[in-house]
Amino acid sequence: MFQIFITILILMLSQTPDSPAERPDFVLVIHGGAGTIKKELMTPELEAEYRAGLQAALDAGKAVLEAGGSAEDAVEAAILPLEDNPLFNAGKGAVFTHEKTVELDASFMSGKTGEAGAISGVKTVKHPIRAARKVMEESVHVMLTGTGAEAFAQVQGLEMVENSYFYTERREKQLDRILAREAEAHETELDDPNEPVRKKHGTVGAVALDKYGNLAAGTSTGGMTNKRYGRVGDSPIIGAGTYADNATCAVSCTGHGEYYIRNVVAFDVSARMKYQGSSLQTASDQIIHEVLKEQGGTGGLIAVDKDGHIAMPFNTSGMFRGYVKSTGEQNIGIYQ
Ligand code: ASP
Repeated sequence: MFQIFITILILMLSQTPDSPAERPDFVLVIHGGAGTIKKELMTPELEAEYRAGLQAALDAGKAVLEAGGSAEDAVEAAILPLEDNPLFNAGKGAVFTHEKTVELDASFMSGKTGEAGAISGVKTVKHPIRAARKVMEESVHVMLTGTGAEAFAQVQGLEMVENSYFYTERREKQLDRILAREAEAHETELDDPNEPVRKKHGTVGAVALDKYGNLAAGTSTGGMTNKRYGRVGDSPIIGAGTYADNATCAVSCTGHGEYYIRNVVAFDVSARMKYQGSSLQTASDQIIHEVLKEQGGTGGLIAVDKDGHIAMPFNTSGMFRGYVKSTGEQNIGIYQ
């Protein structure tokens, strides 16, 4: 009798959702920015392009994880094609500043070591996510900015480009529309209601759990259209836009950066799990749908926890997102 009881107990314990036995070998989650993304404003062709861009990022990261690579390598591999893709607000195709330049921010964190790296306001580094990772791995610092960050990237042998490399006609027009309205209204505007796909913001990011149980997170962005005075958002700020801790989760955010900085969003997901015992989903939902929403902070986040659970909440009409698991399960989403 006692043996039967023990057997049943063991069976029950082995089936709890948080059981490590159920943990997938690897998980990768990506995002390509949150904002006003409505199906009625999207053409089928454009939607197919966005989906292909997200798929390419998932495939690149998955290949790394499948081959037994690290979460860090998978995050970098997934973000690189998004930085190269002019559709997303990172690397090539990033939004314009008030001065019609492109200034890029990125950050990287390893959940295994707790180390982190970030760069902000760079104009000539082709792949900002690589530079952020180099800061983490090859320097004693966490954050480098502007020309100093560029000099560091060059010393590290990263590919450098002219600022004009990042230029796209779409982003120039987007800025022109904002500047025209600003001149009329005599007030500063950061968003573009006429942008057909994402009127507010964009960013790319990835989080991964590898088969060794290690987590990593990375985020890369051009920030917000028409930014000026050296404005920096949450994306390169560890704890705000990016965070990873093997004991809890890995998080990458996208949204109105000022709100994400004030609420230390990425760290808060991890903190709620650690101190309150919240699940990843509950912690992420509370921040995005309660804390940020009450303040008028728009955006979303992607996250994966140490057991392979994922969360992708957003309080905007859409967020470009996708995930893939070692189990074969995968999905790409855009709208609510
Ligand atoms: N968080 C970014 C920023 O504020 C923008 C975004 O994710 O849409 O710079």
